[in-house]
Amino acid sequence: MNKTHNLHKSLEKINKERFNKDLLSWYRSEQRDLPWRQNQDPYRIWVSEIMLQQTKVDTVIPYFKRFIESFPTVYDLAAAPEDKVLKAWEGLGYYSRARNLQSAVKEVVETYNGKVPDTPEQIANLKGVGPYTAGAILSIAYNKPEPAVDGNVMRVFSRILSIWDDIAKPSTRKIFEEAVRKLISEENPSHFNQALMELGAMVCTPKSPSCLLCPVQSHCQAFAEGVQDELPVKSKKKPPKPVPMAVGVLKTMENEVLIHKRPSTGLLANLWEFPNHETLSGGNAQDEQLQAFIEESYGVETEIEEHVKNFEHVFSHIKWKLAVYSGNVVKKASETEELRFVNIDQLEEFTFPVSHQKIIQLLKDGTI
Ligand code: SF4
Repeated sequence: MNKTHNLHKSLEKINKERFNKDLLSWYRSEQRDLPWRQNQDPYRIWVSEIMLQQTKVDTVIPYFKRFIESFPTVYDLAAAPEDKVLKAWEGLGYYSRARNLQSAVKEVVETYNGKVPDTPEQIANLKGVGPYTAGAILSIAYNKPEPAVDGNVMRVFSRILSIWDDIAKPSTRKIFEEAVRKLISEENPSHFNQALMELGAMVCTPKSPSCLLCPVQSHCQAFAEGVQDELPVKSKKKPPKPVPMAVGVLKTMENEVLIHKRPSTGLLANLWEFPNHETLSGGNAQDEQLQAFIEESYGVETEIEEHVKNFEHVFSHIKWKLAVYSGNVVKKASETEELRFVNIDQLEEFTFPVSHQKIIQLLKDGTI
């Protein structure tokens, strides 16, 4: 389709006052009662926004409640051991979010006397706080007219303003930030940004938007043109690269299992896992490669017995294709900070990534 956007022309068609009135009165009556909306505490809003990245609201609610109960203030989170923070995050994925949040909160305590900064420059310098999160905290907590543009807001505004730029391109965000700056309510920037997020979640959804129920339908240029289903334009990402992995659930005579702590940097840093190894095709069988790896790397002699199950775990750039094997530890090695032999009941005390939690489930239900 040969459509080029002209943001200024599109903006001229919007009556800002009426648009805000329609959007905000809808938000006031229809907003969901979410735990992070109980007050405007910037720390709570920050935690919620970090948790909500790549994760659905329903999933986040119980995590948010437990997290705030465990770490009610920036001081509690700053002082907590990292293991405890990761345990509270277990299952949410993208663990670097939790680690960055804690580092940034420490900076807030040390540099800003425990007060989450309220200027764009200071807040954007905190670890893990990108433009979206900065805008969300500044607007929702501090009522500053700053844009908070994520994929949802880009979808909503691409339709309202009929913007045909590819939202998968990082540079496109600027166009939407400019649009928000032009339209944001000066009286209530907090509700304006939250209303856009709510509209994207409840009405202007990715597939089949509910235009007939939409509070801003009379302002929506895509609806007027009948092209709401064609927007936003979003080019496809490269599919994640498959990585074959063999994982061993290896038991000692005492019925303990061997677990290992991942390195302190990189993917899933500092989380615990069952020993695993990226396997190469064309060489030895996967189980033999795994056995050799465990002996070489950990000094533990094992005997792999059975292939139990295959499953996949998708990250943004790679896809683990996990082949799970069971077997025995023939000769133990000394325990270290990174290598432990633990009873199945004790596994609860360690933080595992989601894919390895599935393996724990197999152990608990007796499959292994
Ligand atoms: S009218 Fe439809 S496409 Fe336009 S903002 Fe509302 S729900 Fe989205």
